[in-house]
Amino acid sequence: MSDRLARNSIDGGRIIYAVDQKQIVSLRFPTFWFEPTPQGLFMLQVAFGQSKYYSDNLTQNVKRGMRQKIRRGEWLTKAPFGYVNNRTTRNIEPHPTHSKVIVRAFKEYAKGTYSYEALADFLALHGVTTGKGTPLGKASIKRMLTNRAYLGFVKYKDEWFDGSFAPILSPKLFEAVQKVLSARERPRTRKASHDFPFVGTFRCGECQSMITAQWATGKSGGRYRYYRCTKKKGTCSQRYVREEALADQIKEQLQSISLCDEWTAYMLDKVENMNREENHSSQSVAENLAKDIKASEARLEKLVSAFIDDDIPKDIYLKKKDEIMRATLALKQEKKDFRQQGKNWVEPLREWILDTKQANFLSSSADFHEISSFVKKVGTNPLVRDKSAHFTVPAPFQFVAGRRALSSFPAPSARAGSVLTAEEVSICDPDGI
Ligand SMILES: [Zn+2]
Repeated sequence: MSDRLARNSIDGGRIIYAVDQKQIVSLRFPTFWFEPTPQGLFMLQVAFGQSKYYSDNLTQNVKRGMRQKIRRGEWLTKAPFGYVNNRTTRNIEPHPTHSKVIVRAFKEYAKGTYSYEALADFLALHGVTTGKGTPLGKASIKRMLTNRAYLGFVKYKDEWFDGSFAPILSPKLFEAVQKVLSARERPRTRKASHDFPFVGTFRCGECQSMITAQWATGKSGGRYRYYRCTKKKGTCSQRYVREEALADQIKEQLQSISLCDEWTAYMLDKVENMNREENHSSQSVAENLAKDIKASEARLEKLVSAFIDDDIPKDIYLKKKDEIMRATLALKQEKKDFRQQGKNWVEPLREWILDTKQANFLSSSADFHEISSFVKKVGTNPLVRDKSAHFTVPAPFQFVAGRRALSSFPAPSARAGSVLTAEEVSICDPDGI
């Protein structure tokens, strides 16, 4: 075929030149033949043009094939931990339990209280070890915490591409971990905050210096942990405060902004329902918009063909066309806006409910590190003054605290296991707020 004869345009040009000069009088190809007439020459040019197009296309197709392999996003080597190879799909998929261990490990590490070694121990506890059964080394931990495969990406020659397998982590959690990692990379003396949970979270209420901590021996010879102002900003009259005293006050505050599990379970269920309804109605809105756009486009096609058939005068055609095009554009924009506005109110609400649940759990916890990182998360301006801890919480928590103060019934946590009355439920009802 002519694409063999003239793989590149120079060959094709030479042949046409030879024909033109009558050096070649006829050429035969399996699918067509030509004679050295003007028409024949034209045909030949078309044929060579096509063969050039074909071979250009071939190169393109080879490149595209390579890109497509990447674009298919298949993981071609051994699955990283958390995934398993699937021989049928020739891809990887999240391992039912290992993927959960990964999520847990990332969640733990995102708290910022774990060292690589501590995380390796945590993983070993969940059965993730080296081949010899010892906890993973620092390098392996770091590789795991930065592995973009968990985001569903696939690596090809040092470059990451979208994979076609399911991600294990949310981008939010992955980024939270990267933030902790980069904070660790910066050389800093964080030892103190490691040992003393509330250091780094609280400032002095009098002079705004950071709070530091130390061990001290009490009157009876017992060893205690004390917190005090660093007094880096000049004179300050603040005295020491014991860790237990500080922790008790913080826990009391957490108690005041907490909701019991029955309430949070009820609210989470409610949010789930609202989410489902929202999803349902937004889906039908999107479908209707798509339908309208299609109808609008069909109207335009009809108009164009009517104009071509001379059924309508040009001025009416132009006016109508302008109307339809603008209407279509408006619909398309509406669809785009609708998709973007999304339902981003659901996640913050869910997160807040989980925080009130967490506050409830921590109000009776002995894990001071966990308590401190929670205060950092929900509280603003945590201060220690006159041996007492203070921090302000966002409005929704203040609402909980206010409600609790008004309620005549005992704190929910004091009645764990009891059944909620309709009245109590209505207090929690997001519609009733
Ligand atoms: Zn001070």
